[in-house]
Amino acid sequence: MENRMRADVLILGGGAAGMAAAIQLAEIRNRVGLPGRILLADRMEKPGKKLLATGNGRCNLGNRNVSAAGYATRSPRRLEEILAGAPFERQRAFFENHGLLCDLQPDGRMYPYSYFAGTVAEALRRSLRAAGVEELAGFEAVRLEKADGGFCVTARDGRALQAGQVLLAAGGKAAPALGSDGSGLELAASLGHTLHPVWPALTAFTSSSPLCRDLKGVRAAARAGLYSGGRLLAEDTGEVQFTEYGLSGIPFFQLSLSYGMLPPARRQGISARVDLFPARSAENLAAWLARQGSRGCSAGEALEGMLHWKLARAVGKTAGIPEKAHLDEAAARRLAAALKGLEFPISGTLGWEQCQVTGGGVSLEEVDPVTMESRLCPGLYLAGEILDAAGLCGGYNLHWAFGTGLLAGRGMAGECAIGQGRPAPEKKRREGPAPKRKKPAVGGGRKKQ
Ligand SMILES: Cc1cc2nc3c(=O)[nH]c(=O)nc-3n(C[C@H](O)[C@H](O)[C@H](O)COP(=O)(O)OP(=O)(O)OC[C@H]3O[C@@H](n4cnc5c(N)ncnc54)[C@H](O)[C@@H]3O)c2cc1C
Repeated sequence: MENRMRADVLILGGGAAGMAAAIQLAEIRNRVGLPGRILLADRMEKPGKKLLATGNGRCNLGNRNVSAAGYATRSPRRLEEILAGAPFERQRAFFENHGLLCDLQPDGRMYPYSYFAGTVAEALRRSLRAAGVEELAGFEAVRLEKADGGFCVTARDGRALQAGQVLLAAGGKAAPALGSDGSGLELAASLGHTLHPVWPALTAFTSSSPLCRDLKGVRAAARAGLYSGGRLLAEDTGEVQFTEYGLSGIPFFQLSLSYGMLPPARRQGISARVDLFPARSAENLAAWLARQGSRGCSAGEALEGMLHWKLARAVGKTAGIPEKAHLDEAAARRLAAALKGLEFPISGTLGWEQCQVTGGGVSLEEVDPVTMESRLCPGLYLAGEILDAAGLCGGYNLHWAFGTGLLAGRGMAGECAIGQGRPAPEKKRREGPAPKRKKPAVGGGRKKQ
């Protein structure tokens, strides 16, 4: 117990959620003249490491069109309540008030005006310093316990830290090289929180189809659908990327949200179909092909006028029509069917190293939707990817991380409902965790970015 560091508030995890919460909390405390030590601890050498990798280094900060339908969660209503307290405009104002000029694209995606993720991390770190938040780098929490009316957090190197309030913003398991290795989830579980099984989200699919090898490196504008026993589960349109191991690109990243929400037993026998001409019907394509046949084109020649040559070959192979075959009406119909539904058996997705987000996590039913305080452990707050919410591509996940971080910052300051025009915290109306919902929501894979 000697050598134990003390803080009024410990923010565990210096990602988007932890930094936003720390700035918000410190500024409120400074404003009302409440002295105290706020520590932002992270296992990495400095906070904000993952932010630097986001949006291909450009950091897609948020999205004006964000809505609950864009998230995969077991608690859709609770997520909607939380999002209601994290409106897009408030987040944009937060960035701009902290020296970060933002650019809004016509499709609603928000980026830093610099289109450089480093600008975001640095603006946040400047604001942390200005607000008096202390950074504690290389502190890898391995134990979180209730102690002396607050919490005691122990690090891997044996250091111990006592704090009155703790925010668990340690992320999930996605991209562990950038800091979040799942240890935050274990810390939440150690205090009794329910963890929905976690899965890699916003990632590519793997397939054993020999077509993948043939198509390696090809990209095509297409509609991608996931099927189970011939029934469409979800679909998305955009640029599909064929890789040696399977199928990638934004449409498949989005579909990984629907896939991850399936119970493991239902993930068997899933197939993906790629419609290479989403804007044309099979009849239209067959008629076009037949016309090329009547002009004297072979099947291969007609297809090469429509597609990348690798795709042309794959379509011919799938339809069972040799390249040099005469293109009569029957052959044209078979090729059109393949163009509208190139099929790939799905064996799974890539893993934690190659995904962007964690599906599943701490049940949203166990946090107060206004303050983000745990309903099981007063004084403990949760924010960001550690929670059971995985969003679409396009800024949904940073919106969630920043938004829940800001809510937690206000919640820890006890200022959550002031001036927000929001209902009083639900904990005043209902005691204990709410009953679990049975039907999972799958927002992903349907909403176009
Ligand atoms: C390559 C990539 C690109 C992405 N691009 C985008 C994008 O453009 N737009 C978008 O909206 N989303 C994007 N995302 C997702 C988004 O970055 C995350 O959802 C978001 O950053 C999560 O924020 P967080 O603060 O909850 O968690 P994290 O950013 O994961 O932060 C958690 C922090 O906690 C620390 N930590 C973990 N365990 C411990 C421990 N035991 N002790 C101490 N510290 C600990 C970690 O080191 C880390 O710094 C991307 C993700 C990746 C991987």
